Amino acid sequence: MTPGIRPLIAGNWKMNASAREAVDLAQAVRAGATGLAAELLVCPPFPYVAGVCGLMAGSGVAVGGQDCHTAVKGAHTGDVAAAMLKDLGAAYVILGHSERRADHGETDALVRAKAAAAIAAGLVPIVCVGETLAQREAGQAEAVVAAQLSGSLPEGFEAAGGVVAYEPVWAIGTGKVPTEADIAALHAAMRAQLGAKTRLLYGGSMKPSNAQAILALANVDGGLIGGAALVAADFLAIAKAAG
Ligand code: PEP
Repeated sequence: MTPGIRPLIAGNWKMNASAREAVDLAQAVRAGATGLAAELLVCPPFPYVAGVCGLMAGSGVAVGGQDCHTAVKGAHTGDVAAAMLKDLGAAYVILGHSERRADHGETDALVRAKAAAAIAAGLVPIVCVGETLAQREAGQAEAVVAAQLSGSLPEGFEAAGGVVAYEPVWAIGTGKVPTEADIAALHAAMRAQLGAKTRLLYGGSMKPSNAQAILALANVDGGLIGGAALVAADFLAIAKAAG
């Protein structure tokens, strides 16, 4: 944790859940989201954002998108503008997730432009960075992440409350987690690069059994949760571990 920063526990539902399951999951998260020190955020697939925003109204649980386009509007079939998410009541948007960098060839420059568009629309961007296993094994993790941060964060990121999620690619959905020392070292490097105010999340196979130890590390201000966010009890247990 970082003194003065409220932890954020963010659930990335990715491309999961039927419409019925999304309602059930949102209702279960809402029901358990009382008396928590951490801020809670759920990021459903686009078709469910409106409904989940409605279900979370007045609960204090924030809702976010999983991507947005750089443009305000126009001929971009299949894409979603940041202002559309904002209109529905979303507060955050995940950008540059490693799955989007891999599946859609997203570059640091594109992520930076998307983050600028998100800020312009009044959304808080959560920009994801993280090294591959080969880069970790070559001793390049900190350099890779530093370069991604330099390339992916736009002007005004800190002032807009922008969030960074450190997600080692090899830890996502694999059950593998870096050592606590490695997470702490990486987060200390990000803190030195970004300054005192930016919320720094860890993501990658976080679950109730490892959350408390990870969230207790210096400069870890919350988590970005994938698989465990699809089970309300697990997501809420991780949130409770944040204090
Ligand atoms: C993620 O994809 O953001 C993530 C952290 O996934 P998981 O928790 O399943 O590793």
